[in-house]
Amino acid sequence: MIIVLKKGCKKRTVESIIKKVEELGFKAHAIFGVERTVIGAVGDDRDKHLLYALEAIPCVEKLVPILQPYKLASKEIRREPTIVKVDGASFGGGHFGVIAGPCSVETEKQIVETAIRVKKAGARMLRGGAFKPRTSPYAFQGLEEEGLKLLARAREESGLPFVTEVINPEDVELVGEYADVLQIGARNVQNFSLLRRVGKFGKPIVLKRGMSTTIQEFLMSAEYVLSEGCKDVILCERGIRTFENATRNTLDISAVPVIHERSHLPIIIDPSHATGARNYVPPLCFAAMACGADGIMVEVHPDPQKALCDGPQSLTIEDFAVLMTHLRKLSKFNGKKL
Ligand code: PEP
Ligand code: MN
Repeated sequence: MIIVLKKGCKKRTVESIIKKVEELGFKAHAIFGVERTVIGAVGDDRDKHLLYALEAIPCVEKLVPILQPYKLASKEIRREPTIVKVDGASFGGGHFGVIAGPCSVETEKQIVETAIRVKKAGARMLRGGAFKPRTSPYAFQGLEEEGLKLLARAREESGLPFVTEVINPEDVELVGEYADVLQIGARNVQNFSLLRRVGKFGKPIVLKRGMSTTIQEFLMSAEYVLSEGCKDVILCERGIRTFENATRNTLDISAVPVIHERSHLPIIIDPSHATGARNYVPPLCFAAMACGADGIMVEVHPDPQKALCDGPQSLTIEDFAVLMTHLRKLSKFNGKKL
């Protein structure tokens, strides 16, 4: 239920309404928008009639039921786009955030060199896996805590914040101690205990769409994170599984306008995992910008042939610099801030 407050409602009054909502057994989420302040009351649908008692409070303008199954992720509760800001990187509301880096952290030289050079080319955030969710148990699984330390070193050297994946609920504290942004990978999009843990932790999240999750299921996963109090969720479309096998997955570019219609959350594109082939990465980055995406996440490696993971889809640093030059030109046409 959305509790719409009248203009000029005092902070003290907002707090007292939040208290009443909680006394009725709901979680209250205050959303201070430009146009209006609303309180989202989420909880057991069967008790929602109890909330109508709040209509009697003078500062309450009206109560509006949220029709979508996802509540806090929905456009119904917040019409303006959410802008997720992390140390110089912004996603949403006209900001096009660029995340670049290797699939996995391999050595100090590899990650530090990548960080410094992608920053110079225009990236605003570094990526790199320390805990890797691999299809095969025999494939490289990541450097784990050592990888997190190397990412922190790369941040120190380059000034770029970093995003890295967390796979297990038990590792959220450890990964969160180092990372600026926590990534939930495609394979964990419906790992609800992990979603709850990262939502409680409070750092911004990149949430990847699963290879077979519908947009509605994807937004329900975002809802798990938001319902624990985290407000900064960046959605990431990374390709879905279809009958087509010329590419690793099929980039569902239409997810961008669909999500923008339904949710205030930013949505970025990962063309590297979507295609599995570096040649297709730049054209899909252009498509992402042209169709209104809020950013991209691309895999970049100083020497893709030697990469321990996902070399064929990784751009060289030189390729990435060329891509950024083109994106800067394109951004002038559609008003995106890079
Ligand atoms: C990744 O970004 O490192 C990754 C494993 O991607 P996905 O979860 O989309 O497969
Ligand atoms: Mn990868």
